[in-house]
Amino acid sequence: RRLDSRSGLAAGLLGEIQTPISTEPLESVYDITGELGRGKFAVVRRCVEKATGKVFAAKFLRKRRRGRDCRAEVIHEMAVLETARNNARVVNLHTAYETDHDIVLLLEYAAGGEIFDHCVSEELLPEAQITRLIRQTLEGVHHLHQSNLVHLDLKPQNILLTSLSPPGDIKIVDFGLARRLGVVGELREILGTPEYVAPEILNYEPITTATDLWSVGVIAYMLVTGESPFAGDDKQETYLNVSQVNVDYSREAFSRVSELAVDFVRKLLVKTPEDRPSAAECMSHPWLWQLCLSPDPATTRPRTVRERSCGTKWTAPPEDPEDK
Ligand code: ADP
Ligand code: MG
Repeated sequence: RRLDSRSGLAAGLLGEIQTPISTEPLESVYDITGELGRGKFAVVRRCVEKATGKVFAAKFLRKRRRGRDCRAEVIHEMAVLETARNNARVVNLHTAYETDHDIVLLLEYAAGGEIFDHCVSEELLPEAQITRLIRQTLEGVHHLHQSNLVHLDLKPQNILLTSLSPPGDIKIVDFGLARRLGVVGELREILGTPEYVAPEILNYEPITTATDLWSVGVIAYMLVTGESPFAGDDKQETYLNVSQVNVDYSREAFSRVSELAVDFVRKLLVKTPEDRPSAAECMSHPWLWQLCLSPDPATTRPRTVRERSCGTKWTAPPEDPEDK
C-alpha cells in the first residue's frame, strides 16, 4: 500500500491532537507480553499496565519511512482516532508515547482478533452472526461518514472483535489511510490493498464515502462465502477483476445463506460510486434484520425489527429518500 507524499497535507491530513505524547519509557509503565500484528510501518504489541493489570494494544508506528519523516502521518492517525472517540465501533485511543524511532499508540485491546479469521476458517460464522457484525460495521462507518471521515482501508484484517467465542462486538482499527473529506478539494491517489479497493481508487477518480461502502460489500462477501471476491493469481488479475466487477454469485458460493445476502452484496459491489447505497440506507436492507425476526421460544409476543433483542445499539433511522 502506498501513501503518496505529494497528496500529503494537501489531501487533508489532520494536524491537531489533544492526547499528550509522553516521552517517559513505555517499559516503566507497561509489560510487553507479545505481538498482535504487524504491517509495513507498524508493529502492534500486547501490553499490560503494571499498576492496574489492564491489557492494551500498543501500536508502534515508525516515524521515518523510506528515508522520509512521517511524523505528520502518525499525528494524523491519532487525530482521526480522537475525532472518532464517541464512536463505540472504533477502537479507543488511551494514550501515546514517543521513542527515538516510534510513536506508540496505546489502544483499547480487542481480544477477539480479526474478523479475517472468520473469513478463512473451515467453519464460517452462522448467518445471524454475520449480519450482526455487518450491522455493527455499518454503524461505525455511518458515524465516521457523519464526521466527514472516510476510512479507505476497511478490510477483514482491520475489523476486530472484543471477544472471540462467542464473537463479541466489532472495533474498527487502522486509520492510517483515513481522510477527512471536503477540506481541500478532491481526494484521489490513496491506495489500499488491491483485493479490497474500489474501482474508483484504481482509476484515480474522486474518493467519497461510497468508497468505504464498496469495502463493506467485500467484507460481507468474505464472511458469507469464505472467499475474497476479487483476488486473482496476481496483482494484474486482481485489478482487472475489480475494475470489471467480476464477482462469482453462483449458488455454490452462497449455498449457506439466504438469497437476501446476495442482494445485499450486489447492491454494494457496483462500479459507479453514486449508485451504491449509503451506510444508513444499507441499515434498512432486509438481510440485516430477517434473522432477528425468527421466532423466539421464550416469548410469544411479536417482535419488531428495531428491538434491542437484535443486539444493536443502532438509533439513527435510515434516511428516507422522500426527504431529499
Ligand atoms: P497496520 O497499519 O500495520 O495494518 P493495524 O492498526 O491494522 O496496523 O494493526 C495491525 C494488526 O494488529 C491488526 O490487523 C490486528 O491484528 C492487530 N491489532 C491492531 N490493533 C489492535 C487492538 N486494538 N487489539 C488487538 N489487536 C490489534
Ligand atoms: Mg491494518
